[in-house]
Amino acid sequence: MLTPVLSDNWDQINAWQLSAYQRTGGYDALRKALTMQPADVVAAVKDSGLRGRGGAGFPTGMKWSFIPQDNPKPKYLVVNADESEPGTCKDIPLMMASPHTLVEGVIIASYAIRASAAFIYVRGEVLHVIRRLQQAVQEAKDAGYIGTNILGTGYDLDVVVHAGAGAYICGEETALLDSLEGRRGQPRLRPPFPAVAGLYGCPTVINNVESIASVPVILKNGADWFSSMGTEKSKGMTLYSLSGHVTRPGQYEAPLGITLRQLLELAGGVRAGHELKFWTPGGSSTPLLTAEHLDVPLDYEGVGGAGSMLGTKALQIFDETTCVVRSVLRWTEFYKHESCGKCTPCREGTWWLVQILERLEKGQGTEEDLVKMLDLSENIMGRSFCALGDGATAPITSSIQHFKDEYLAHFTHGGCPFDPMASTVFA
Ligand code: SF4
Repeated sequence: MLTPVLSDNWDQINAWQLSAYQRTGGYDALRKALTMQPADVVAAVKDSGLRGRGGAGFPTGMKWSFIPQDNPKPKYLVVNADESEPGTCKDIPLMMASPHTLVEGVIIASYAIRASAAFIYVRGEVLHVIRRLQQAVQEAKDAGYIGTNILGTGYDLDVVVHAGAGAYICGEETALLDSLEGRRGQPRLRPPFPAVAGLYGCPTVINNVESIASVPVILKNGADWFSSMGTEKSKGMTLYSLSGHVTRPGQYEAPLGITLRQLLELAGGVRAGHELKFWTPGGSSTPLLTAEHLDVPLDYEGVGGAGSMLGTKALQIFDETTCVVRSVLRWTEFYKHESCGKCTPCREGTWWLVQILERLEKGQGTEEDLVKMLDLSENIMGRSFCALGDGATAPITSSIQHFKDEYLAHFTHGGCPFDPMASTVFA
């Protein structure tokens, strides 16, 4: 059940180099793909059941099939490598450990949609990742996997590694396109969708790093092999990031549908002497869950049944020593800082939420503040221009749902009940 797929070569010596990647069958999938018709590559990915690993879970092959091949404009592939949500740390290790897995996936995906250029948009702060990708792309060019007449097939492709400037909103696909075009990164109105008018107004597919890195192994082992793993609607192996109060934090590759209880067994459990208090299944934009939800399947349907989402599969684990109000304040500060300012509910709402949470954490709030936060959240949720606004409300509403008593304890204690000096510190 736990045979790694994406991470199986991470422990090889110099796994990031082309020679090491090729020793374990690297670029065999590309050779195979180039013998197929592009439409058959799309069909194979469709049949595998691969769904977008960036958070939305949209079927990858279906997304590729939306590219209108009768449109004479150039087609582009854009890889969203702008990973920056709190707790989310799966793509960066993948790109560091095995950049050629991504590069090979990029070439296959580009061939499938008949793209003439592909862009890997990387979060600007991770210079070491950018350098590693640039090195991998250069190695692939030198080996004839990128460039003109790839492996003598007549297919031409250029691949560009582009550094973002460190804005979380540029992980939103249309804001990413604006940023890539040299403009301020802000979400675009849709329609038109990127498949019709994306980068430079041309048909564009935007996929997450892990989605594209999953493509070579699907081509190599077949769609049936991939779809035999996971659940009925959430297929394949995937990367989960475990962080926080866990004995062995890190990336764990496991099938979709595994539970947090099973993942914690792999990771040595919650740190010794402590117990689980709350956790996020998919980063800070997903509603908090508690120990009650340890056996919920982590798939695109199961977590929804528990009132949350799989998101980026960033499992942040918090034990009983954590103040939930402080945690929610820290996340909300992040959203306030990262709001692009385009729409009022998110720009103003996140600012007000931080003001209220600050006074709540100091023990200076009232129960009325909880009502205000829920009201603000209701006016942000579904009324914001993009998902950042909705995501900002997830920790607020879920924490009040599960931990209202802890909010109230801040009033009675005159500050954080976990801090014996609170009333002095916050006076
Ligand atoms: Fe910008 Fe926030 Fe509106 Fe998204 S929801 S467009 S991040 S202001």
